[in-house]
Amino acid sequence: MTTRTDPRGYPAVRMYIGGAWRESGAQHTAPVVNPATEEIIGTVPLATPADLDDALEAARRGFRIWRDTPVAQRTAILHQAADLLTRRAAEIGRVMTLEQGKPLTEATGEARRVADTLRWHADDARRAYGRVIPSAPGTLLTVRREPIGPVAAFVPWNFPAGGPLRKISSALSAGCSIVLKASEETPATAAALVGCFADAGLPDGVLNLVFGEPAEVSAHLIASPVIRLIAFTGSVPVGKLLAAAAGNVMKPSLMELGGHAPVIVCADADPARAARRAARAKFANAGQVCTSPSRFLVHESRLQDFTAEFVKAAEAVVVGDGLDEGTTMGPLANERRLTAVERLTADAVRRGATVRTGGRRPDRAGYFFAPTVLTDVPEDALMMSEEPFGPLAPIVPFSELDEALAVANSLPYGLAAYGFTESAATAERLSAELEAGILSINHCGGSVHEAPSGGVKESGYGREGGPEALDAYLVTKRVSHLLAG
Ligand code: NAD
Repeated sequence: MTTRTDPRGYPAVRMYIGGAWRESGAQHTAPVVNPATEEIIGTVPLATPADLDDALEAARRGFRIWRDTPVAQRTAILHQAADLLTRRAAEIGRVMTLEQGKPLTEATGEARRVADTLRWHADDARRAYGRVIPSAPGTLLTVRREPIGPVAAFVPWNFPAGGPLRKISSALSAGCSIVLKASEETPATAAALVGCFADAGLPDGVLNLVFGEPAEVSAHLIASPVIRLIAFTGSVPVGKLLAAAAGNVMKPSLMELGGHAPVIVCADADPARAARRAARAKFANAGQVCTSPSRFLVHESRLQDFTAEFVKAAEAVVVGDGLDEGTTMGPLANERRLTAVERLTADAVRRGATVRTGGRRPDRAGYFFAPTVLTDVPEDALMMSEEPFGPLAPIVPFSELDEALAVANSLPYGLAAYGFTESAATAERLSAELEAGILSINHCGGSVHEAPSGGVKESGYGREGGPEALDAYLVTKRVSHLLAG
């Protein structure tokens, strides 16, 4: 790793606390690395406990202001922030590619999409109705839905705009304030998003952005009596730690964790079409997506055609620096992922798998790994049970649907699953029997803001997207009012 500032320009990153941009109180910083070049392109400030206390106090005050702001005014500010996000999407995308690696078109598209997500949630919150319950004469029995209070949110590096925006849009739409700890690996995107809210006129303290040593920041924020909800997106092991810490102080949590999504390609599916659609999803964001298809269970009669088309699609992927025109897959986002996919590939090969294409890092700087397709992968290969979070596609045959369903449901995860079939009856069987919070039939499309996303089993609990997104951020209060006598 070298220490040259990226010539393409990377902004100075600061935290945003109580309406002011600032450095770490102790001037602590960590380097930010461009994964396409391994060069240090900037630094991120790391919060001290005193910085975190300032953020908590700001969120406490911000909550009172925001909760009491008329909903129409809140919505107008959020729409204004969304307009700024749209206008700044190209610049946000460029920064995202520099620090995370994904191709510029993917990055810019992500920045544009989050603006729409924000608009949708801001409008939806205007309909967060309570209810009036039929009761005795002279009695008013009502149920109100109120914002839960200041939220502590922790988001990772794979969707530097999408991750933070899902938390921010749900919290702010519901009337909560938030202390967001975004990833130290993609801090400039988070700061650029927060800048849109600041410039839209969001009151001070409603949205606070910090970075730091993750375990220290989460311990400090979760323990604080100011915080009323913990929202986390990341790995299952870290999710369990944070959920346990939240449970210890009896705080609710929202956990968006990892998965290991099976794709079942049935005997009656079009194998080439299934392969093209699955491959497009597999190599998006270099496979670093919690819902990325990652175990390809293909009916034995379709195996040859599916594999041939999948290999063709993998070899058509243009791997390169995300800023270069024509690149369709960037590097992995950090060295940890590169080491992990190399380890998983070597393990599968040692156990008898055949690499049909890829399987290695190209001979260049950067955390690149070739789109990789493997067959003859034994069930005990680590990549069949450990979330690969990279561009690895193991293809395995099955003969009976029962067998495929058993393999698909055999892991402790339950985030996304995919099925390809021309039969309505088989599609219904997959819908009923696959243990997943998100199921797609005949496509591998991504999440949409109109509908809920989230996991079952160890993939977490709570939902983001759709009207359900507000549930975690609102509390239900029963009020019974004796009007007479
Ligand atoms: P990791 O488990 O170390 O970290 C995952 C995320 O949690 C990071 O953003 C990290 O900053 C944060 N984190 C770690 N410890 C924390 C703590 N004590 N308190 C608060 N936040 C903490 O792994 P990683 O190397 O960054 O990513 C690897 C794995 O994480 C992947 O294999 C994948 O399974 C998972 N992951 C999932 C998602 C998702 O969208 N669900 C996103 C990124 C990573």
